[in-house]
This record gives sequence, structure tokens and C-alpha cells, in this order.
Amino acid sequence: MRIVLLGAPGSGKGTQCKRIVDRYGLLHLSSGDILRKERAAGSELGKKAESFMDAGDLVPDELIVEMMADAISKAPEVGFVLDGFPRTVNQAAELDKSLDLSGQKINVVLNLMVDDQIVAERMSGRRSCPQCGAVYHIKNLKPKVDGVCDNDGAELIQRPDDSLEVVANRLKTYYEQTEPVVDYYKNNSTVYDIDAGKDADVVKSLVLEKLDALVSA
Ligand code: AMP
Repeated sequence: MRIVLLGAPGSGKGTQCKRIVDRYGLLHLSSGDILRKERAAGSELGKKAESFMDAGDLVPDELIVEMMADAISKAPEVGFVLDGFPRTVNQAAELDKSLDLSGQKINVVLNLMVDDQIVAERMSGRRSCPQCGAVYHIKNLKPKVDGVCDNDGAELIQRPDDSLEVVANRLKTYYEQTEPVVDYYKNNSTVYDIDAGKDADVVKSLVLEKLDALVSA
């Protein structure tokens, strides 16, 4: 199964990806997590991406497309879930081209739809694990121990780009550059619009219902 998860920042892509991966054993490929790891490692790519990420702008397509093609080439036969990629129509077209070379295609696109106001609330309360990338929320998705990651015990942080000012720019970038990707896929693939304004467990049921139907078809 090859899945793309689309949605504005804060629509819950990361949270839902973890659940999809747990259920179907797919590889979770988050472009944002890969970029943050590159930055932490001080790589050339990480350095080039830094200023774009901190401002809430998109990292240039050519860097992202190469980075993700490399990650996808290492995915297991069972498949993968893409989270945060593609974020431009050009990235989506490049992804299709590179999958086509190995006779593959994206099977399903889940479009997580949510209001801007909910996005702002979710993101300002969001806390992330700097080690494993797990995402929590101070009210809606608390870790077992306050401020500490359930998986590895690392101290949770607020990502600098989750500040209200940067969130506003990330949303603007989303509407200008990423929303058109939904239409791109509506012309090429199966797209399911999911109401992602609900509680994370309700959204999970909606998502898994669609995917279970696809798997058993
Ligand atoms: P995320 O964790 O997915 O919200 O990504 C954090 C930041 O990484 C974004 O605000 C962008 O600066 C950058 N980024 C992640 N994925 C992409 C992508 N597909 N294209 C361009 N920039 C990206």
C-alpha cells in the first residue's frame, strides 16, 4: 500500500500516520522529520533547509524530491505512508514520475480537512519529542508523564516553527502551494476527504475504515 496524507499543518497528519503504520506495518516517511534529523546531524542538506523551515517557508523542490526519492527507494515491499510530502504540484508530479520508473503508483490519498482556528489551537499546544518525533498535545494528547516522551523518556519541546507567528505563515504557504496538490490527486488517484476537526480517535476510526475497505477490496 502506498499512501499520501495531505492536510494543513496541525491537521493531525503525524498522529494519524503513526496509527496507520501500527496497523498495516507500513514505513512512515515524514519529510519534516527527515529534515529535522538532517539539521540535527549538521548535514549539507540540513544547513540548506534551516532558514526556510524556521520561517515557515517551503524548502526548494529539488532538495526535497531527491531526499524523498532516496527514502522511498529504501521502503519495504509492503509499502509506505507519506506525511508532509508532496507539498507542491511539482513535487507530486516528480513523485509520480519516479514511482512510475519501478511500475508503482500512489494507491490512496487521505485529505485531512480542518478549520484554521482548530489548527492554531492544536499547534500552540503541540509538544514534540526531539529524538523519535512523537507528537503530543498539552490538553488533547498528553504523555503519561508531563513533558516526557512515552517512547524514549526524552524531554518534550515546542518546535520553534509551532509559534503562532510562524504557524500563520505555514498556513499561508499551505493554501498557496499545497492545497492545489489535492486537485492534482483528484484527477489521478483515489482521494478521501476526512473531517479531521474531530477528536484524534474519531479521525483514526474514519481513516482506518477507508483503508480497511481498500485492503479487503
Ligand atoms: P512539517 O513537520 O511537515 O510541518 O515540516 C516542517 C517544515 O519542513 C516545513 O514548514 C517546511 O519548511 C519543511 N518541509 C517539510 N516537508 C516539505 C516539503 N515536502 N516541501 C518543502 N518543504 C518541506
